[in-house]
This record gives sequence, C-alpha cells and structure tokens, in this order.
Amino acid sequence: MSTTTPTNFIRQIIDQDLASGKTTQVHTRFPPEPNGYLHIGHAKSIVLNFGIGEDYQGKTNLRFDDTNPAKEDLAFVEAIKSDVRWLGYAWDELHFASDYFEQLYAFAVQLVEQGKAYVCDLDAEQVREYRGSLTEPGKPSPHRERSVAENLDLLARMRAGEFPDGSRTLRAKIDMAAPNMNLRDPALYRIRHGLVHHQTGAAWCIYPMYDFTHPISDALEGITHSLCTLEFEDHRSLYDWLLDNIAIDRHPQQIEFARLNLEYAVMSKRKLTQLVNEGHVQGWDDPRMPTIAGLRRRGYTPQSIRQFCAMIGVTKSDSLVEMGMLESAIRTDLDTNAPRRMAVLKPLKVVITNYPADGTEPLQAPNHPKNEAMGTREIIMSREIYIDQGDFRESANKKYKRLVLDGEVRLRNGYVIRANEAIKNDQGDIVELRCTYDPDTLGKNPEGRKVRGVIHWVSASHGLPAEVRLYDRLFKSPEPGKDGDFLDDINPDSLQVLSNCVVEPALASAEVGERFQFEREGYFCLDLDSRPGEPFVFNQIVGLRDLGLK
Ligand code: ATP
Ligand code: MG
Repeated sequence: MSTTTPTNFIRQIIDQDLASGKTTQVHTRFPPEPNGYLHIGHAKSIVLNFGIGEDYQGKTNLRFDDTNPAKEDLAFVEAIKSDVRWLGYAWDELHFASDYFEQLYAFAVQLVEQGKAYVCDLDAEQVREYRGSLTEPGKPSPHRERSVAENLDLLARMRAGEFPDGSRTLRAKIDMAAPNMNLRDPALYRIRHGLVHHQTGAAWCIYPMYDFTHPISDALEGITHSLCTLEFEDHRSLYDWLLDNIAIDRHPQQIEFARLNLEYAVMSKRKLTQLVNEGHVQGWDDPRMPTIAGLRRRGYTPQSIRQFCAMIGVTKSDSLVEMGMLESAIRTDLDTNAPRRMAVLKPLKVVITNYPADGTEPLQAPNHPKNEAMGTREIIMSREIYIDQGDFRESANKKYKRLVLDGEVRLRNGYVIRANEAIKNDQGDIVELRCTYDPDTLGKNPEGRKVRGVIHWVSASHGLPAEVRLYDRLFKSPEPGKDGDFLDDINPDSLQVLSNCVVEPALASAEVGERFQFEREGYFCLDLDSRPGEPFVFNQIVGLRDLGLK
C-alpha cells in the first residue's frame, strides 16, 4: 500500500521558501524527549517531518531533546530509535541536545556579555509573583541590573556547583511588560545537582531550558523548518529573540500545527507513564496502548499508521480524531494483505458420523479469496471437527445463516454437513453435535437443496491449541479525564482472554508478529508471548468491519 501525501499549509510554506530562494535544501527534525515511549501523536509529527524530508529530497534529523535528566532514560532513547525505524524512516543525522551543552553555555555567556541575560536570585515562587499576569505587567527582578562582570562570575559559579538547587537561575533580559508572558525575562538555565544524565553523566549541575536549547539546536543543525505543536505558538517570539541575539547566522522558521488527539485514548506521556507504572496495562507495549510499541504488538503495520497520518492531515485547528479512522487504516491494509486462516474461538465438537473413523483428507484452501497469487494452504478434513458455539442453534428462523438441527451448512472450503443430534450434559449445555456430511458437495452445491450459509471449522485432531486475546477500548469515554480523573474512565473489560481456541494446522509455522484474517472473526497477529511447545497466543488487531458500536 502506498501512502499518498496530500499537501498541507506547511508544505505550501516550504514551496514558497524554495521558490523565493529563502531555502535551498529543506532540513527538518523530529525532537522527542526520551522520557517515555512514542505514541500515535508522535507518529503524526514523525510522518510530517520525515515525509517532508523525503519528498523534498531534503534531510531529517532525529534529535533527542534531553535537557531534563530527572525523567529521561537510555532505554527510552533506544525504544524511540527502534520505533522511528519501524515506521519506515531513516534519519540523516542523529543528535542529542546534550551534545550542545558546551556550545549552549557559550551562547549564554555571550548573552550575559551583551547585557541580555542575568543571574537572578529569586526563587520559583518569587519569580511567579514578579512575572505579573495577563492583565498586569510584571516588575523587574531586584537582580536585573547586575553588572556584566558580576553576572559572568555568578554564572561561572553556578556551573561550578557553588549554589544549591533553586537558589539562582540565568534569565534572559527581555521585557517584563511584554504582553506575551514568555518574554518576561524567561529562565534559560536552572541548577540541578545530583543527577546522572544518560549522555553527559555528572558533568553538569546546570541544565538549559527547553526554550533556550531548542532554537539553538535547530540553528546549529541547519534546520530550515522547525515544526512543532500549537502550544509552542506563544514561544515563537522567544525562539526568534534568542536567534536574533546570539552570534549565529542561521534562523530556522518555527511553524506550529495541531496535535493529534485520539478518541478513547490518552496521549500525554505523564498519563501513559502512570498507566504503566501503576499496572493498569502490562507495559508500554501493551496492545491496548496508543504507543507505537503497543500498536506494533497489536498487529498494526507501519504502512497503516503512515496512511492514517495522511488521512488526518495537518492543520492549525485542534480536533478529536475518531478511533474508527485508525482502525479503518489497518483494516484496509489487512484486507488486501493478510492471508486467510480458520480459527475456532469458542469450540463446539462436531462428530461427522458417516465419515470414516480414522479418515483424513487434505483439502486446498485459497490464502486470499481475491488474490490467487497468494497461493493456497492445506486444511484437513476428519471425522471430528470444531465449529464455533455461536454457529449452532437447535432452532432458528431463516435469518440465521448457520447450522440448526436438521439444517445444512457448508464448512468453509469443505463439505456440506447436516446437524442431526445435539448431545447435552446434565446442565443442559450442548457439548457435542452429531452431524452427517454429503460427500458430493466438495466445491459444488447440493442438488435441489438450499444450504443456509458457510461457517468456519478446524479438524479436532489436527487443530492447534491457542489463546486469543480480544481487545476493547482502554477507556470508556471518548475524552478520558474530561470530567475528572482519567483513571476513573478506564474500561475494566478492555481485555478478554479466550484460552480454549483451536486454530488450523497451517498456522503451525506462524511467526511472532505475523498477521492473518481469521475468517468471519477478524484480523489477528501472533503475540510475542507465544512460546514453543505451548499454545499460540494471538492478539485481535481489529474486527472485520466497523460495527460503529463504541
Ligand atoms: P508530552 O507532553 O506527552 O510529554 P511532548 O509533546 O512533550 O509530549 P515530545 O517528546 O517533546 O513530547 O514530542 C516530540 C515531538 O512530537 C514534538 O515536536 C511534539 O510537538 C510532537 N508531538 C507530541 N505529541 C504530539 C501529538 N499528540 N500530535 C502531534 N505531534 C505531537
Ligand atoms: Mg516535551
């Protein structure tokens, strides 16, 4: 499946910049903070940035925005790299903002030397008081007029570790009355002792703020278009102020777009971390998680995620995307590409009384009804088979296109059978069905009789045991947490485990991650919990059609 990329307002800006000569080669970046796993929202940004890099024969960097070591981890760095690769992208350059710590510090010194930054001794609480509000201007910090010499000395001593956490910050000296609060002398550096950074170890006890680090990292890498989500719109004037006031001859253009919000999902890393750490899910790659790792394990393909991103487009207005769109992207992909198999999720034993006791018969079944090139596989007919409990009723009206007593149904890719007798246990549950088959119905319809429908089945002695995990939305509400704590909206029935399933023998060679359509049931993928010698474990990826129920 090819991903078609519709144009968007960002591509139009780039087209203009190339036409006017402002840009010669497009250079974008994807800048995750390694404080969690990537989610489907990040995929939107990845597809946007890498897609532009590819389509304009430009470059795209992967840059870890690692300025907050307290929450970051090398394991997240590795997970992010593997997720970006899995989505099908290759970065031109790999960077860490922490690689620039020395340069960033030199730029901070530059600002101080020009009288454009100062060391401030106010604590966090006082800084907030002095900042004013949307309706009132702020007032200058008592340390705002420190001399350049004093500021240089204090900054050097901050770096040398002479002052405790929170006692001082380096601040830009911009405008305490600016209508945009981000320009009211924003912090550039803070003191953080005792942290071990995954890249720089214990080398630093002062760390640059995101707003200081980001524009400079972009400029150092020669990024031309710095794409970020709308909440950074108000930070753009600070981005520009910094690049205008340090000695650097590049000035990337920050462009904001709307973040992806998905129904029935949470997308903030803080909330995803909480789901994992508090055991509401089984890990970052739990198939119910909206993480890339979760979607991959669930059975989503990289193409389907890229296609989804193309479908939702890139705009400047926030919206809530229906889960159905994501599901439709994977369903379309799998309808075309997933081989068909038969799996009985809730088995009911059927004995074909007129079939030879030890007879077995290999039958050929197409792997895909509309694509002969996908070939065939062998299924095996025998005297005892399983059908799904839902495919038999003692009696039913004509709308029921399955098996009833004294009625006939076709076994998919096999014979027509007739149900003669239902054997029950003491509780009255049907435990076995006695049927007969018509040997003259392989590949042809019986003469003069109408068969109700077609059902799937698996030979009892050849089928393989499997556990099938069915998933529902992780949350009950389309906007979890909208009216309170998001944890209260968790759907307690999001996982249903069926442990007595039987799948056809051709699945013996299935590999972890391989995807199939289980006929009449949906799309499934072999989970990594499958162990040799134990029952297979399949994840339900998505149903066969959008039921529009949830
Ligand atoms: P969180 O607030 O959950 O920690 P974040 O935005 O801080 O998320 P980053 O790792 O900083 O996460 O994000 C890396 C890039 O991905 C940023 O450019 C960010 O704008 C983008 N991004 C994050 N979430 C989304 C989303 N839901 N839709 C589109 N882009 C997103
Ligand atoms: Mg962030």
